Amino acid sequence: MEFAAFAEDAAAIEAESADLAIVESVRDLFEAAGEDLPTVTRFVQGRVFPAHESTTLDIGPALCYEAIARAAGQNVSAADVESRVATVGDVGEVAADYEFGGQRGLGSFGGGGREALTVGEVAAELDTLATLDGSGSQDRKLDVLFGLFNRTDPDEARYLARIVLSEMRIGVGEGTVRDAIAAAFDVPIEAVERALHVSNDYGLVATVARDEGEDGLDDIHLEIGRPVQAMLAQAGTVSEALGDWGRAAVEWKYDGARVQVHYDGDSVSLYSRNMEDVTDPLPEIVSFVETNLGAPAILDGEVVAVDDDGDPLPFQAVLRRFRRKHDVAKAREEVEVELRAFDCLHADGEDLLDTPLTDRHDRLGSLLSAGVAEVAVTDDPDEVAAVETAALDAGHEGIMLKDPESTYSPGRRGKHWLKRKPDVETLDLVATGAEWGEGRRAEFLGTFELSVRTPDGFETIGNVATGITDEELADLTDLLEPHVRSEDGQTVDVAPAVVFEVGYEEIQTSPTYSSGFALRFPRFLGVRADKDLEDADSLARVERLADHAATGSD
Ligand code: AMP
Repeated sequence: MEFAAFAEDAAAIEAESADLAIVESVRDLFEAAGEDLPTVTRFVQGRVFPAHESTTLDIGPALCYEAIARAAGQNVSAADVESRVATVGDVGEVAADYEFGGQRGLGSFGGGGREALTVGEVAAELDTLATLDGSGSQDRKLDVLFGLFNRTDPDEARYLARIVLSEMRIGVGEGTVRDAIAAAFDVPIEAVERALHVSNDYGLVATVARDEGEDGLDDIHLEIGRPVQAMLAQAGTVSEALGDWGRAAVEWKYDGARVQVHYDGDSVSLYSRNMEDVTDPLPEIVSFVETNLGAPAILDGEVVAVDDDGDPLPFQAVLRRFRRKHDVAKAREEVEVELRAFDCLHADGEDLLDTPLTDRHDRLGSLLSAGVAEVAVTDDPDEVAAVETAALDAGHEGIMLKDPESTYSPGRRGKHWLKRKPDVETLDLVATGAEWGEGRRAEFLGTFELSVRTPDGFETIGNVATGITDEELADLTDLLEPHVRSEDGQTVDVAPAVVFEVGYEEIQTSPTYSSGFALRFPRFLGVRADKDLEDADSLARVERLADHAATGSD
């Protein structure tokens, strides 16, 4: 395909605003692309290489402006180009404004009479650019880029400049490409989407859709050594998780950096959250996996840095290790990293993306003999709170709540994985009642009734039973027993005297308590020994907090 034809289509797509019309134009482009289809699927998104490849062009704006200036002629400097880009705001427009092609080149293509550029040539030249490295490589990159610009007409120059700087901006996102592949080659959108998820390679998926149809797409599987996009989490609450799923898989949210582990039975490769190859900077993870992983697999997890006591270091310390390309041995002396694997996408020849989370976790446990993240599947908010307390005590960020039945959706920020929002506010509430515990905790007061202050006294707002350790229960019993006014079975009436700091996820109006409000997922954070009753939070404050949450104001 001629690059001029690609540029003309790109201009037409850019001029469209309706989504459907854009998909139709991209479909036409794909149908016309012939052997350049893989490249065209990428160029149209402003990409040069498949998303799973770590290769980058590594061309900054300065080099691109220099190449444009050189192609534009003697009266134009890189500074001129830069200042015009600053005014116009788009390198493509600026490039399209110059008259190229008159310059005798130092580059691979001479100036003078323009020879039509093809998409294949542009791709090949950009491939060459990406391989240039070391001393003198900047000059050689400049030559190649100049050679390309020198052969472009204004439309071609516009899109070449944008592709080179990854600023395509013609309104074509991943969804558009997916829909256009389906429309062009008459295959179901879902089949295209699945194949894209497992391969991350638009060029491959488009070609297979065209040449082999739906069956071919169904045959695209995860490949060890080809990273997939990580499944992502959104913020959520324990109430949501337990309300929606009944039970939740609760894991520590490790304070580290995401890693995808690929092991083919022989060698290990590691990828960051952005699918960059981070194998070389992390040799201790490589040898850990070689030692502990029993079969070829693709795992998902977090790399954490630990100090001499095994306590986690801030995640910046981990990131420094990820970025370190040289002197890895020295960096290792400063910060030692470890793996915490929490998911298994592929095990011993079998793709597990569509397998429920708990089964994937079981597979993970059977394959990896150490470094497996613990998971608790529970419907009990107390157990969730206990995991959270342990995670925070160990110096990690908090907890992840996952739908135990959910499949692995690469690249999705869905509601199947929730990172529990930290409490925004806490309340200082007065303990006005309690219940004697049961079994092992029979001699302790548990479940404490909480009240807010009103001008006339105290009104109840809920009970707290979570977040309290056995040790704290004993202390709280000692603290409250002197204030017990009466007992009725297990239930104890306590005179207002002690102030608790309580975390919660939400305040709701509720007929259950005399204040008219209830706390969702209240957790005991501590006793505010420094606070008197008059310092406890008032009903008025609770009303304000509830109001703000409802209107979203602050
Ligand atoms: P955030 O970066 O705040 O969106 O949180 C999601 C990130 O938490 C993931 O990308 C992981 O890097 C990290 N993480 C730590 N522990 C876990 C876990 N058990 N499950 C999933 N992600 C985790």
